[in-house]
Amino acid sequence: MGEPRVPPRGMIVDYHMHLRGAPANGSEPLVLTAETVERFVEIAAGKEIDEIGFTEHVYYFHQTEHVWRLPYHLERCSYDLDAYVGAVLEGKSRGLPVKLGLEVDFVGEQQAELAELIEPYPWDFLLGSVHEVLQVAVDQEPGIWDRLSVEEVWRGYFRDLAHLARSGHVDVLAHPDLAKIYGRRPEPEIVAELHNEIAEACADAGVAVEVSTAGLRKPVGELYPDESLLAAFRQRGVPITTASDAHTSELVGFELGQAIALARRVGYESVSVFEGRRRRQEALG
Ligand SMILES: [Zn+2]
Ligand SMILES: [Zn+2]
Repeated sequence: MGEPRVPPRGMIVDYHMHLRGAPANGSEPLVLTAETVERFVEIAAGKEIDEIGFTEHVYYFHQTEHVWRLPYHLERCSYDLDAYVGAVLEGKSRGLPVKLGLEVDFVGEQQAELAELIEPYPWDFLLGSVHEVLQVAVDQEPGIWDRLSVEEVWRGYFRDLAHLARSGHVDVLAHPDLAKIYGRRPEPEIVAELHNEIAEACADAGVAVEVSTAGLRKPVGELYPDESLLAAFRQRGVPITTASDAHTSELVGFELGQAIALARRVGYESVSVFEGRRRRQEALG
């Protein structure tokens, strides 16, 4: 009689986080060193996470400054992309279970130009995000909310997200229904229509989506995406990652169990793992 067979646990990934040091004066400064990478890995290991992916915001790096117009982006556009990439690669060379990613904003007609600027680096995956509609923030108040109706914000948000999905420039969509951040939603039929359209776009484009716990920390107090949207993705065979969107090391793996439970509830059994922008599926941990 051999040992009882222990079924493999599957894999847990946290594929969305920002390489930051300790918060200071209300901001979370980038600290682009392998030591910072190690701090994030230690927290992840303590939470039984197998692999983490760094996805710093693309607008923090001066190499991309031509693309930005808004003060919000230009004020932040001062760090060195080579230093960021170097810190994560140094972590990799130390044998740490880390992946090199970037959170790439939708920039409309300049998407190809932005893609070209970041093309020289050895990304494992690129995360695509929409944070603005008509160049005004969706995730700040008042932001776009005192200029457009809720329905207009949602339509604008999902139109841009679908464009980004179909652009071929990103591998995973971040926080896919960010427009619900303040708990405002249009009529249910419109929500359902927009959910179906984005699920269709991702399926056509072969783009994955993340199940993110960041929404639990926002006014809406829910995971991104809604269960109904995740079910629409599942129905069309759109693969998933799981993500905390941590802006401090303490938040790595934040409530990932809830994201995994939601994914299972709608029928997912596997999670996407990326390397060199190629995706493979592993059993969901
Ligand atoms: Zn984001
Ligand atoms: Zn993020």
